[in-house]
Amino acid sequence: MHQVFHPDWQARPFWWDAVPPRPADDPLPSQADVVIVGSGFCGLSAARTLAAAGRSVAVLDARDPGYGASTRNHGMLSGGLKIAPDLDRRVTPQRAAAIRRTSFESFAFTKDLIRTEALQVDYAHTGRFIAAHSRSWYERLKQRRDDLVRHFGYHVRMVPRAEQRREIGSDLYHGGIVIEESGSVHPAKLHRALWDLAQAAGARVFGNAEVQAITGSEGAFTVCTVRGEVRAGRVIIAANAYAGRFNRTMSPYLRRRVIPVTAYLIATEELPADLARTLMPTDRMGTDTQRWLYAFRLSPDGRRIIFNGRPRLRDDVDERTATPLIHRHMCKVWPALQDYRVTHSWKGLVGFTFDRLPHVGVDDGVLHAAGCQGNGVALMSYLGHQMGLKVLTGAQQQCGHDGLPFPTSRAYSGTPWFLPIVGAYYRSRDAVDRLLSGRGTA
Ligand SMILES: Cc1cc2nc3c(=O)[nH]c(=O)nc-3n(C[C@H](O)[C@H](O)[C@H](O)COP(=O)(O)OP(=O)(O)OC[C@H]3O[C@@H](n4cnc5c(N)ncnc54)[C@H](O)[C@@H]3O)c2cc1C
Repeated sequence: MHQVFHPDWQARPFWWDAVPPRPADDPLPSQADVVIVGSGFCGLSAARTLAAAGRSVAVLDARDPGYGASTRNHGMLSGGLKIAPDLDRRVTPQRAAAIRRTSFESFAFTKDLIRTEALQVDYAHTGRFIAAHSRSWYERLKQRRDDLVRHFGYHVRMVPRAEQRREIGSDLYHGGIVIEESGSVHPAKLHRALWDLAQAAGARVFGNAEVQAITGSEGAFTVCTVRGEVRAGRVIIAANAYAGRFNRTMSPYLRRRVIPVTAYLIATEELPADLARTLMPTDRMGTDTQRWLYAFRLSPDGRRIIFNGRPRLRDDVDERTATPLIHRHMCKVWPALQDYRVTHSWKGLVGFTFDRLPHVGVDDGVLHAAGCQGNGVALMSYLGHQMGLKVLTGAQQQCGHDGLPFPTSRAYSGTPWFLPIVGAYYRSRDAVDRLLSGRGTA
């Protein structure tokens, strides 16, 4: 059998080769104007906004700063692309418009930040290719195109199957759409740049400072960590999908509302340059229409494929077990990758919610933003900034996700036991779609 593992294989994000975790183990301060729990894009962005306005800010992370999704993701940067087509049926027209506006603004905000601060984060305006996994989904993508054009004025075009090899060197799909308004970053470089910006503004970031409890009320909070207590006037929780990861006590409210789902990524060894160009000729960011979707891109140097697929229905698969299974998924898209090995495999948590919407809100006086449904590079950076503004101005409503009812379920206490059931259902629906398309590749 072909060897899937490269001799240098590692169970850690490819991104960390260029930007390894940077410990931040200074003693904690005894107090700060604002304590922020979580040092991803959201926490750092909030910290920068607050520190720039003169507030003393301590950002606390349970592990090294950036441990969460912000240094583990695919680095696809966009706004509006993941808005559910049924949004208008689920919320009022005003709320739907505000959610779309926030999503649109988040993309502009993050791009502007990269440009104005000249951040060296390998930003490229690549566009996005969404591939249809069946003929019926190609038809459905036409509706998506119309929505993106109508609501955002984006430049979107259909790519029929006969022309799809201009976008992707694969015959698996039934065409797709290209959306020009989308880009890519090196996520760990973006994270480090945001950290440096927050620090330059005066914020302090601390690792290995797991928060176990938050007590008190506005103006007089006590944040209890494994390294001691910090008193704070305001507290922001920016822990997203990791909110219940380390303990059940920090925020029972968020633990019961955010559904953490593990996403798995692999990076291939360096490919011959001409092969890489054949696989993804336009260097766009790629996803497909499956419910358990594939997402893929070239590395910023254009030499590797970075690929996301679901190894098993259960969520507790380790990286070593997951690797050959994801490699097999990748080879369904590109059989030519059969003989190329994997150098890095890693996983991270994506925060879903019961209403499939991100949320910004307040519980017991503590602000939070959470649940970006796997689309948070731009959005969480922006929502962090928005939360910083809320603290500064006291405004109740600033963005489309503010103050929505945040649903939970009586059957849910933070462990998503239902994922294998939902996963089996999704997988069978995907398989039926493909079967009806006459390919039978399920
Ligand atoms: C594999 C993967 C691929 C993705 N791809 C994309 C993509 O291509 N494009 C896109 O837009 N989005 C993508 N996403 C989503 C995106 O990465 C996230 O939405 C975004 O990074 C979330 O940022 P955040 O700051 O809210 O949370 P995170 O970056 O997850 O940070 C939360 C932090 O909170 C800390 N924390 C948790 N509990 C505690 C505690 N008790 N005490 C102290 N600290 C605590 C954690 O250690 C963690 O560092 C992807 C996600 C994953 C997992």
